Amino acid sequence: MNVFESVRDAVTARQAAEAFGIRVNRSGMACCPFHDDKHPSMKLDKRFHCFGCQDDGDAIDFTAKFFDLSKKDAAEKLADTFGIVYENTGFRPRDRPPKPKVSPAQEYRQAEERCFRVYCDYAHLLQKWKEAFAPKSPDEVWDDRFVEACQRLDYIEYVLDEIFLSGTIKDRAEFVKTHGEEVINLERRIFKLTAGRTGGGIEGGQGDRAEPAHPEAKPRHRLDARAL
Ligand SMILES: [Zn+2]
Repeated sequence: MNVFESVRDAVTARQAAEAFGIRVNRSGMACCPFHDDKHPSMKLDKRFHCFGCQDDGDAIDFTAKFFDLSKKDAAEKLADTFGIVYENTGFRPRDRPPKPKVSPAQEYRQAEERCFRVYCDYAHLLQKWKEAFAPKSPDEVWDDRFVEACQRLDYIEYVLDEIFLSGTIKDRAEFVKTHGEEVINLERRIFKLTAGRTGGGIEGGQGDRAEPAHPEAKPRHRLDARAL
């Protein structure tokens, strides 16, 4: 079987979404990442369907849209994420389900590690932007990336130092609990900026200015250092 068939056989839309950090409730509903969804209106099972924006498809469609990838790249990403073998001959489904069940404690630890990793990646990106896109003369129009770095870097470094490195478990848990959506949005954006595009990378031209697929899908919880 080729990569499409193998992945469709092995991974449901729900498993894919959960692997990428979407929280699916007991009824199989989640907040749709493809429109500004405040109450869960996406049903996830083998396929997904959003009753809000009518988006619909299988695990590959979900992944392609979520990371802004081609169908083939999305299928390969899923094969990679779930360890699926997809040679044309000799394909054997895995003996065990793609993802082992994790305990709530492990789940929390993974969420915290992920949150920390995403904030570290974002801090590095902002540090690079602050240097690479600093205005060269007083009348130069400021690059958006330089502005973002100036506005956000202090706060992101504050979070890393004061909450993740020297905070208590309670501080970290509270932060992880309340910033899940921001972490997902940041992770997706960083993925697109650093790996998702040809000619991407932070020194690239216009091509690396990733925007969410839907204008209304922009992160809703943008934090400002001054708000603290
Ligand atoms: Zn939707």
